[in-house]
Amino acid sequence: MNKRTFIKLSSAIMATPLLSPLKGWAQAEKLKNWAGNLEYSTGNVYYPTSVEEVQQFVKKLSKVKALGTRHCFNTIADSKDNLISLKEMNKVVLLDAAAKTVTIEGGINYGQLCPYLDEQGFALHNLASLPHISVAGAATTATHGSGVKNGNLATAVAGLEIVKADGNIVHLSKEKDGDNFYAAVVGLGAFGVITKLTLKLVPTFQVRQYVYEKLPLAELKQNFNAIVSAGYSVSLFTDWQTDTINEVWIKSRVDDGTNYAAQPEFYGAKATIKNMHPIAELSAENCTEQMGVAGPWYERLPHFKMGFTPSSGVELQAEYFVPHQHAADAIFAVQKIGKEIGPHLFISEIRTIDADDFWMSPCYKQPSVTIHFTLKQEVEAVNKLLPKIEAVLAPYHAKPHWGKLFTMPAKTLAAHYKKMPEFKEVVAKYDPHGKFRNEFLNRNIYGE
Ligand SMILES: Cc1cc2nc3c(=O)[nH]c(=O)nc-3n(C[C@H](O)[C@H](O)[C@H](O)COP(=O)(O)OP(=O)(O)OC[C@H]3O[C@@H](n4cnc5c(N)ncnc54)[C@H](O)[C@@H]3O)c2cc1C
Repeated sequence: MNKRTFIKLSSAIMATPLLSPLKGWAQAEKLKNWAGNLEYSTGNVYYPTSVEEVQQFVKKLSKVKALGTRHCFNTIADSKDNLISLKEMNKVVLLDAAAKTVTIEGGINYGQLCPYLDEQGFALHNLASLPHISVAGAATTATHGSGVKNGNLATAVAGLEIVKADGNIVHLSKEKDGDNFYAAVVGLGAFGVITKLTLKLVPTFQVRQYVYEKLPLAELKQNFNAIVSAGYSVSLFTDWQTDTINEVWIKSRVDDGTNYAAQPEFYGAKATIKNMHPIAELSAENCTEQMGVAGPWYERLPHFKMGFTPSSGVELQAEYFVPHQHAADAIFAVQKIGKEIGPHLFISEIRTIDADDFWMSPCYKQPSVTIHFTLKQEVEAVNKLLPKIEAVLAPYHAKPHWGKLFTMPAKTLAAHYKKMPEFKEVVAKYDPHGKFRNEFLNRNIYGE
């Protein structure tokens, strides 16, 4: 850029309402992530209210990272330099009932979107355990719910609008853009700022939720596939301390063939007689309705209600994906070190996810099972524990959740992600000078 262009650009920026956030950030307090285990490395946070403002910020800044609802536990969303939060850009742009798609702004979260979709007679195929997370952050980190036939949340994405490093807009769609699309949807925040997403919709549906306690591990070993396929979405909660799975949550669609017929026993587990929290000792007040009471998809697929904080937040999370065929063996391998995990654990959850086509998705061409750990916020102890969990899961080709804690080195990640070299090539087209790269990407993807 020559000097004349620079002066013109600077004065244009100074003359616009962008002035106030630019002034404001100098005093801004540094934000923390949801769990509070991470303070972002910069207080320079920009809050654009339009795509044009996003473009101006991106053009002006030499290093920047988009920020969603800050639910990740690691530094994937961190920046030492600048953050752009799309918090103010949280509207529905267009619902196309004929095409069964909705186009939304890049800062909307599921709690804001889902009731609207339901009112219009539509639903998303699946949701994560909580509705408070942004749709863009969920897609880019391959966030998932459960269900053997349900792909992760990114699989609902049919199109993206991204502000790339030069400040220009690019539109990507499944139909038109093939490889670029499959690289960018689970894009780990590397492509730019996602300002719009188009999601595929399904007709609205009702779900009943049933919870069972104390499923014998012997039954799980014998009948793993039948158990996780018993409903539209099934979650197993365990603390690894006994020879049973603490709780089985079955989310059953009222209207289709996966409708689960409630019984007092489920593979030796007993039906509960009241709503449960995944940690049985805690109040179920913030949990979605159970006991077979039918309700809309968005009030049953998440475990936690929108109006509540899911838990105190003083926790850490780690999660590993293993190929579905290795699930039972992987679960039993973790069970063997259960006594070591126990003192640091609140609860573990086991879920299933169908295969997808996104290059950096842990479920790329591979139906998977996840083993999740909600851990106490004991950073040092957790840092020592995770390599042990990763070691017992290594024979099962475990991959970590992109938004949770892990200690696996870049070379292990590279071995798991065969498409990583092509991913980097596509990123380079959108961000040739690494404007959106941060320490997380440098370490885990670029091996620096
Ligand atoms: C209590 C709790 C429960 C959870 N439950 C689940 C669960 O059930 N399933 C699961 O898989 N995960 C779960 N997670 C993990 C977490 O939900 C996901 O990683 C989350 O979806 C990330 O979204 P976010 O908006 O918080 O993103 P952030 O943490 O803010 O950012 C994550 C990444 O997304 C990028 N990003 C965000 N917005 C944009 C944008 N507009 N454009 C470009 N890049 C963007 C960031 O740059 C960063 O790389 C849970 C987390 C918590 C705290």
